[in-house]
Amino acid sequence: MTEAPVPSADELRRRCGENLAALETRIAAVCQRAGRGVGEVTLIGVTKYVGADLTRTLVECGCRELAESRPQQVWDKAAALADLAPRWHLVGHLQRNKVRRTLPVVSLVHTLDSLRLLTAIEAEAAVAGRPCDVLVEVNLTADPERSGCPEAEVPALVAAAAAASHVRLRGLMGMASHPDSAAADARRDFARLREMRDRLAHDVPPEMLRELSMGMSGDFVEAILEGSTMVRIGSALFEGLR
Ligand SMILES: *Cc1c(COP(=O)(O)O)cnc(C)c1O
Repeated sequence: MTEAPVPSADELRRRCGENLAALETRIAAVCQRAGRGVGEVTLIGVTKYVGADLTRTLVECGCRELAESRPQQVWDKAAALADLAPRWHLVGHLQRNKVRRTLPVVSLVHTLDSLRLLTAIEAEAAVAGRPCDVLVEVNLTADPERSGCPEAEVPALVAAAAAASHVRLRGLMGMASHPDSAAADARRDFARLREMRDRLAHDVPPEMLRELSMGMSGDFVEAILEGSTMVRIGSALFEGLR
């Protein structure tokens, strides 16, 4: 067996640009099918699988919204890519002792999952004198081991976040309960998240629940059909690059 040659930097850039363009084309086609404007859906590149070099290549190819699931990775990559100034999203759990270092580098925390975390973010954002945009992450499964706020506690968390003065609630985030299951199952989960948002929207100003962060490489089509405004895509962007 012969090993495939290590791709050159130019080749990596070419493949990365192709992956990004292919995804943007697919997202636009789904938006059209759903009767939605292309500008309604933001592609967020999840860079947790790759190092700072490939992350830089992705930004240079035109992806300016990036996400990591670990706070430490956001800190490190935000520092390494400071010259390009991409916008960072945190899509994994935020421990309270990491709030202080994380807030200055992220533009949106997708994973507000408890009142205790809300209190910690509110306190740090007040000290920093800088508001923090958040999404409430909803656990769409019955499994308490999965991430996110249990569905029954979402109304109270949304009300508390809406009332906070330095935390700015922007919407909800959720993951399909079985990432590898049939498209119809994922779509049902996303529909539930949208319906939850629509119910909650009676009680808070509309701009507080405008965003729906749902959809990953395997299920972003279903998510967009159900109203996603932010798709978080990792593996599909880096296909053939790792
Ligand atoms: C890893 C991750 C993604 C991206 O998943 P892919 O299937 O690789 O696109 C999206 N959202 C969250 C919360 C993740 O942890």
